[in-house]
Amino acid sequence: AKDAGRNTLRFFDPDMQAVISARAEMEADMRLGLQENQFLLYYQPQVNHAGRLIGVEALVRWQHPLRGLVAPAHFIPLAEDTGLILPLGQWVMEAACRQLQLWRTQAHTAQLTIAVNVSALQFHGESFVSDVLATLARTGAPADRLKLELTESLLVKDVDGVIAKMVALKAHGVGFSLDDFGTGYSSLSYLKRLPLDQIKIDQSFVSDALSNPKDAALVRATVAMGRGLGMMVIAEGVETQMQRDFLEGEGCLNFQGYFFGRPVPVAELACFLVAE
Ligand code: C2E
Ligand code: CA
Ligand code: CA
Ligand code: CA
Repeated sequence: AKDAGRNTLRFFDPDMQAVISARAEMEADMRLGLQENQFLLYYQPQVNHAGRLIGVEALVRWQHPLRGLVAPAHFIPLAEDTGLILPLGQWVMEAACRQLQLWRTQAHTAQLTIAVNVSALQFHGESFVSDVLATLARTGAPADRLKLELTESLLVKDVDGVIAKMVALKAHGVGFSLDDFGTGYSSLSYLKRLPLDQIKIDQSFVSDALSNPKDAALVRATVAMGRGLGMMVIAEGVETQMQRDFLEGEGCLNFQGYFFGRPVPVAELACFLVAE
């Protein structure tokens, strides 16, 4: 038994073992965190050409009792690997819908949309459509204020099934945005078929457009294509006035990025909501 143990151990170097146990610990931690309500939503402003708040993107954070506020890059990948993205994604949907319900009763917030990021595992799950509709019904949130952000990689698998789900939700008013556009593999023929309302220009193109003519050309082409297909075009990761001006010059009239506002807890959105 001792020899067998030694043989097995040969395949695991200590670093590897440390990684595996760190992941196992984090998974257990996340399960507990979900039970103990340690997750919260930050909201990042989305503005139009006049700088007016039109909506927000919900971005999940983990308020960990020991680690402090943890960014999604540190736990979403593990959540996707372990399936914990399903309960976490459902929690995010629920929290965003509760916020929409609170906003709908006040004139200066009633028009705001909330964009929610949806993982492939969630979207391709059998009950996705009914889960979203049940959450809308339970919370009383206005469906036409909810926008779901999907990535290209999620959309290329089973296109007919994807379209059927989108159509079912769109019938209730739910909107769809194509996130990180240009970084995935979607072909132009998919773009024609998918009933998308919005396309988000990825921040990598925005950040390089002023220094690299090729990035500028891709931004220009994306804006023209999005507008030609009747979609709203929004740029993400806008950090400077110059980027904003360039984008507007190319016909992109909606923006999200640190230049306009970082993701913040809901109470801090108040300063974007100047009364008229
Ligand atoms: P994403 O959907 O592309 O979200 C945009 C990310 O860019 C956010 O990072 C945001 O804080 C950051 N960002 C916004 N403006 C700027 C800017 O001007 N400059 C720079 N450098 N960064 C900017 P965050 O909040 O850390 O989220 C990272 C990713 O985690 C998101 O990327 C999304 O893929 C994922 N994520 C966040 N919340 C959720 C969620 O509820 N569900 C799922 N499935 N994924 C989520
Ligand atoms: Ca997003
Ligand atoms: Ca994005
Ligand atoms: Ca991204």
